[in-house]
Amino acid sequence: MDASILFILGAMAGLLPDIDSDHSIPIRWMFRIITLAVMFLIIILVGSSPLLHLIAYLCAAVLLMYCLIIPLFKQITVHRGLFHSVPAALLFGLATLCIGQYVFMWTLLFSWLAAAFVCAGYILHLLLDEISSVDLLNGQIKGSFGSALTLISPASWPAYCVLYSAVLIGFLYLPMPNVLEELSHNMFAILTHLNSQ
Ligand SMILES: [Zn+2]
Repeated sequence: MDASILFILGAMAGLLPDIDSDHSIPIRWMFRIITLAVMFLIIILVGSSPLLHLIAYLCAAVLLMYCLIIPLFKQITVHRGLFHSVPAALLFGLATLCIGQYVFMWTLLFSWLAAAFVCAGYILHLLLDEISSVDLLNGQIKGSFGSALTLISPASWPAYCVLYSAVLIGFLYLPMPNVLEELSHNMFAILTHLNSQ
């Protein structure tokens, strides 16, 4: 049961990087789910208002989503941009850790395992994208080579700074699995011991 959750998470994470492709299936589903969630929220918040008002609110939300927010998202995201990068993979891993820990109340170790599987699935997608940009038969490298497994792109360095800062803050403030904590304690003990000699 637990292992199957991890594999499903890893497989789903393999679809995530392409959410920046305007016509990808994950992005369409993501927007549908967000729209439904917003409508649900409106019903919870103002469900007691007159029916006509409620319908107006719901229509306004859908219009706002499909006429403003989605076109805006498509404009600012470039396919194989920020989402096709190693820090994005790490960030999605850390987000999984947060959700597992604080929403699903998983154990710390299982949350970290889930984070690792998401990260691995994500990076596997990036790797496959890179491999597919090498034309093995003709020994040529397509123009898209190097655009998938990115560590940093000078053209959009401010965005990468934000990404890396978010990852750093995550690693600093999120709870570490016990194994790592023990390891760092032991390292600290060894270092102080060496220092005192
Ligand atoms: Zn891709």
